[in-house]
Amino acid sequence: MRTPLIAGNWKMYKRISEATALARSLVSGLQGVDGREVAVCPPFTALYAVGEALRGSSVQLGAQNLYPEAEGAYTGEISPAMLVDVGCVYVILGHSERRQHLNESDEFINRKVHLALTHGLRPILCVGETLVERERGEEIKVVSTQLRADLRDIDEEQMAKVVIAYEPVWAIGTGHTATPQQAQTMHRNIREMLVHMYGEEVAESIRILYGGSVRSDNIDQLMAQPDIDGALVGGASLEVESFARIVKYHPIL
Ligand code: PEP
Repeated sequence: MRTPLIAGNWKMYKRISEATALARSLVSGLQGVDGREVAVCPPFTALYAVGEALRGSSVQLGAQNLYPEAEGAYTGEISPAMLVDVGCVYVILGHSERRQHLNESDEFINRKVHLALTHGLRPILCVGETLVERERGEEIKVVSTQLRADLRDIDEEQMAKVVIAYEPVWAIGTGHTATPQQAQTMHRNIREMLVHMYGEEVAESIRILYGGSVRSDNIDQLMAQPDIDGALVGGASLEVESFARIVKYHPIL
């Protein structure tokens, strides 16, 4: 039985005061919600303050990135131990915005996945194809290549701590959500890839989130799909009303 996870990616939005206010509103707006895990991933500058605002609640803290070294002379970077120190449970890795704008390679992302796990953080590993790749019919090949490279030398025990987020690049921040059927098809394919890599039992236990223009008006259909185990939400996680409604989804077929 997979507990759904709804995670908010606040990207490069929210100063400390705004982030704290949003976290406090979420804590009160989500009281009594059960049967699902909730996490928010603010920018680094707001992690401590948001962690304080979430203290005692069931909403968990996540980061949006890390540098794959325990410590050292890496000016401007943040280590996994620092994220644990500030209270992070999750860390988003391999987000397409970083692959695209910061040229992050699968090899580099793989190092991050290893370091995150070594320090007890749970990676939310993002994979997904571009529009051109989908138009060429290459989406399964692209996602499979990313998954195999990003998870290189991750064993079954470590894999139990990893969450996968399927985020088609053409759906991120564009308002063009994948249809529930398109998302389900890819999620099923990802689960089959995981069966090949880790066996049936591990693959069935791994949560695969959908991300890409998830909103309060499409979450119910997405969550009705058997292989969609939650959502990674960008834009709609920046307002309490929309994010709380997404967390309180009611699957509709
Ligand atoms: C994201 O940033 O991971 C994301 C899915 O963004 P949006 O929901 O805005 O498309």
